[in-house]
Amino acid sequence: MDYSKIINEIYQEVKSETPQGKVASYIPELAHIDADKFGISLQTIEGKDFSVGHFDENFSIQSISKVFSLSMAFSLLGDKIWNRIGTEPSGTAFNSIMQLEYEKGKPRNPFINAGALVVADILISHLPNPKTDFIEFIRQISQNSNISYDLNIAQSEKQTGFRNTALINMMKSYKNIENNIETVLDFYFCQCSVTMTCRDLARSFLPFANTSSDFNFNNVRLTKSQIKRINALMITCGLYDESGEFTFRVGLPGKSGVGGGIAAINPNYYSVAVWSPLINEKGNSVYGMKALELLTTKTENSIC
Ligand code: GLN
Repeated sequence: MDYSKIINEIYQEVKSETPQGKVASYIPELAHIDADKFGISLQTIEGKDFSVGHFDENFSIQSISKVFSLSMAFSLLGDKIWNRIGTEPSGTAFNSIMQLEYEKGKPRNPFINAGALVVADILISHLPNPKTDFIEFIRQISQNSNISYDLNIAQSEKQTGFRNTALINMMKSYKNIENNIETVLDFYFCQCSVTMTCRDLARSFLPFANTSSDFNFNNVRLTKSQIKRINALMITCGLYDESGEFTFRVGLPGKSGVGGGIAAINPNYYSVAVWSPLINEKGNSVYGMKALELLTTKTENSIC
């Protein structure tokens, strides 16, 4: 498969489209990003790297971080984690509060904000140094020791994080949050503020595509069965209430963030990360979805 030719074609085709979508502005610090940025990085299971455009520029990974935090919490708790978080798509926006009251403070899945807040609570209860341990895990899995939090972004989100504050209070009232609300929110805003490049992200997703190697990074250990479940959650819930559309068009497990990144995997072939900050009303990158749709169409290879 000539991935180099294919991703270069995709880059040109997507670039020539009329831009659609808007840069996220509800987190003020994200509003400054140059809307023209566009990068793709694909890493094969054999260790080959194919990257194009702004693939080497840091951006805010936002909700893509939920795959890393879930991996840590699943490694720590095993299946007990599902007593506190569900495994069904929500069909509602990533920051919606409605369902949470009907369902008595148990979030539908770990990738909506409510679910990720419970995951953050679990990490705070179980890790000796949650923020250090979290970033060390990302550094190891991405093979880049320079990855860090962007505290300006975290601070900016803290100042406008009214919905996340509402979600966590609702869950605390149902006793699904153990720790102090401020501590959990502080960790959650930090985890979302991590900045990475497309190449870092693609590398860090490669272990989810690689079914023949052990998953063990900074003491985060996952069995093959656990990786299967994380991938299953990505395919059913990774793009919030656009997960069905993403599966329909792309057919791979993936996870998006409002910073405009999407990371996806094709088991036993490759991992891929795309970044374009223009997002649609569901919070997903318009160019990112288009690029991944073209990737599985041109390669004629997806899991669906
Ligand atoms: N930090 C963002 C929030 O909580 C993450 C949302 C996202 O990327 N979809 O709203």
